[in-house]
Amino acid sequence: MSNQDWSFQTKLLHNDTKVDKETGAVSVPIHHTSTFHQFDLDEFGKYDYARSGNPTREALEQAIAELEGGARGMAFSSGMAAISTAFLLLSQGDHVLVTEDVYGGTFRMVTDVLSRFGIEHTFVDMTDLHKVASEIRPNTKVIYMETPSNPLLKVTDIRGIVNLAKANGCLTFLDNTFLTPELQRPLELGVDVVLHSATKFLAGHSDVLAGLAVAKDAELGDRLYKLQNAFGAVLGAQDCWLVLRGLKTLHVRLKQSSSSALKIAEYLSRHPKVETVYYPGLSYHPGYETQQYQADGAGAVLSFKLADRDAVKILLQNVKLPVFAVSLGGVESILSYPAKMSHAAMPQEEREKRGISDGLLRFSVGLENVDDLIKDLDDALEKLPIIKKEESVR
Ligand SMILES: *Cc1c(COP(=O)(O)O)cnc(C)c1O
Repeated sequence: MSNQDWSFQTKLLHNDTKVDKETGAVSVPIHHTSTFHQFDLDEFGKYDYARSGNPTREALEQAIAELEGGARGMAFSSGMAAISTAFLLLSQGDHVLVTEDVYGGTFRMVTDVLSRFGIEHTFVDMTDLHKVASEIRPNTKVIYMETPSNPLLKVTDIRGIVNLAKANGCLTFLDNTFLTPELQRPLELGVDVVLHSATKFLAGHSDVLAGLAVAKDAELGDRLYKLQNAFGAVLGAQDCWLVLRGLKTLHVRLKQSSSSALKIAEYLSRHPKVETVYYPGLSYHPGYETQQYQADGAGAVLSFKLADRDAVKILLQNVKLPVFAVSLGGVESILSYPAKMSHAAMPQEEREKRGISDGLLRFSVGLENVDDLIKDLDDALEKLPIIKKEESVR
């Protein structure tokens, strides 16, 4: 059996760096060094300065490249550092098409920063391929996807977008934070660059901030590596190790959390005080079929809409298990309020246009017992006033 035949679950544990070649250590050594002694004036060693390369970081970069099936991986100080560095592939006068309900930080990068450098953008509903096609311009260089999207879990047909991009000479970027390569491998579907906030499921323990990028081919990998080195937002050795440790349990964590997420989504969708549930694992979700086709699961994040802000407040005062916080993808369940958290950078008008209303909560399901989670939600929902349900979008 060759490495290629191993399942993803096995590959998480068995890679080139599973045993340190020098010492036999079964955990990648943390090389806390900023520079490397050169033994010979004429022939420098593999490493010279840690911004350009560090063995601990390299172990993580190799691991994610292999898991995503790409040519080269790069580790950054945050997801936004990875995303922003990838955007540096663009030049003045270029145009980028961005999915409408993109992560708030990416929205800010595109609207506040790229615009100052003469890089144009258009936001488009990527669930509609015709709309996407109609927004492509002669100077469109990148189509930027996030699927399932944040926080409404809209599903983009990855292959459909890739075909459009190829026909128009554009690159495709995809933020794969919500599903990770465990559930979705965009490079296999033709995407050029996969981006991650490894802060979330990949590291998985709410204890580190990290970003990753994987390029599909060596040429693009080389260009991205030069930008990583030039911009300098690399991930420190200690944090690389934390992400590597988190990766080892990715399979079991996502398996457990996704199965709980489905049960919770089903429970919430039956609850009279919940207006709408957004989860691509529910058969009535508009992206269900696409999700089934292009991914191995629906993931561990769902959103649901209560009547209004007051209902959200009552729920939050009464739940005992989930933490109420920015972020997702931790071992503990996390409830977030997109309007004031992930999408605070988006003006209210833009938010509401995208359906990110004041009654919307996002739930990142952790590793608690699912019956305990449901009981906790049930007790809290009990405290909400009864609402009329005719406006439910089911
Ligand atoms: C958190 C997040 C980011 C940003 O990552 P950081 O590590 O916080 O910089 C980008 N995209 C998505 C989908 C995220 O959830």
